[in-house]
Amino acid sequence: MTAVSPTTQLGTAQLTSPALPLATRTSGLVGSIIDSSTSLLESLGHPVINFAMGSPAPEAIDSADLADVASGLFTRGRTDLYGYAASEGDFALRTLLMDMLHQTDPDDSPDPAGIVITAGGMQGLDIAGKLFIEPGSLVVVESPTYTNGSAVALSYQARLLEIGMDDDGMDVDALEREIDRIGETPRMIYTVPTFQNPSGTTLSVERRRRLIELARRWGSVIVEDDPYGLLGFAGQRVPSIRSLSGRDPLVFTVRTFSKIMAPGLRVGWVDCDPSLRDLIIAAKQALDTCTNFPMQKLVAGYLSEGFMPGHLESLRSQYRSRKEAMCAALSHHLGDVAHWTDPEGGFFIWVTFDDPRVDAEELFRAGLDAGVAFIPGSAFSPTGRFGNSMRLCFASQSLADIEEGVARLGAAYRNLCAE
Ligand code: PMP
Repeated sequence: MTAVSPTTQLGTAQLTSPALPLATRTSGLVGSIIDSSTSLLESLGHPVINFAMGSPAPEAIDSADLADVASGLFTRGRTDLYGYAASEGDFALRTLLMDMLHQTDPDDSPDPAGIVITAGGMQGLDIAGKLFIEPGSLVVVESPTYTNGSAVALSYQARLLEIGMDDDGMDVDALEREIDRIGETPRMIYTVPTFQNPSGTTLSVERRRRLIELARRWGSVIVEDDPYGLLGFAGQRVPSIRSLSGRDPLVFTVRTFSKIMAPGLRVGWVDCDPSLRDLIIAAKQALDTCTNFPMQKLVAGYLSEGFMPGHLESLRSQYRSRKEAMCAALSHHLGDVAHWTDPEGGFFIWVTFDDPRVDAEELFRAGLDAGVAFIPGSAFSPTGRFGNSMRLCFASQSLADIEEGVARLGAAYRNLCAE
């Protein structure tokens, strides 16, 4: 098999045609190593246990209830589903998702005028970038950060400032010190505060409050990216930054049905200050007119039939067992050489080798040969930090494959050391 380098084949978009009058901003289109992993793995020609992509497990898709809702929806003669729809999203869906949020956290009562349905969480992030980032704007990101989120900021030509994390999420004191030191306030603070991608850690409530204070002082927008908040194993939601802030206009929250229903639906939403609504609608009208209407109706039907609470319950228990299985397998196969986070929800574990000389990109290549994939840590840092770390998704594989995949990783690591 030819060696595959994550920095090349899983790499960034390149300017390939100097003859074309490409816009300067294309230099900010860095692509996503995570998303590219899907086609890379498909091209390998041998099966791989995939800890790379943050996808729900096949068993976590409620295909039976979705099929029932779909069969009631896609009926012969029904044509209203197939037209253009309101740019802000289906009214029924917006009402139902507000109920869903309110049921899981009574303090979270969004203003319906601030809810706009988007094509997944990514479109919400893109709209935030479009609204707030100027070329050259300073944008704070967690270190490690969610690659696709920082890629959005780069696509709007932001300059990124990475702020380290510990078990309580972003180190907000370090953020304050760093901003004082450089003497420039950020325009945006991008955070995945709950069960973070990639580290699995959660920003403490105290730090959430501090972050809100700092954003107010600096006039910065906080983009709160929250795909995993409903997937806490204990079932309780950590209060969102948006609700803790008293729904401050400076907090722009992005959510999605991708992790709680299915990513292929491409249905998400933003929850922001109603004063932004017209701008967001205008942004959508210059982008995709409206979010896929049949899929909005499918999600709305699923919520109105009352399937969501039971489904979330089942996801929490499935994902908890998978996380426990992965931690147990890591202890068994890599316990003497690495340490890792122990998330209380979400999809990811962040593994760091004790020896800083371990090269996770080299291990990635060896892992592919051995039939296991993950995302090397450097993918989560715009400056290539975390060379000896890796992100493992525990949510997408069966218990048996979790054990087998981590065993393969352990063997690949030991083979590399023996070379
Ligand atoms: N933000 C984070 C932190 C994510 O993990 C993901 C999905 N991996 C997204 C946004 C994108 O969500 P969607 O697939 O709904 O666009």
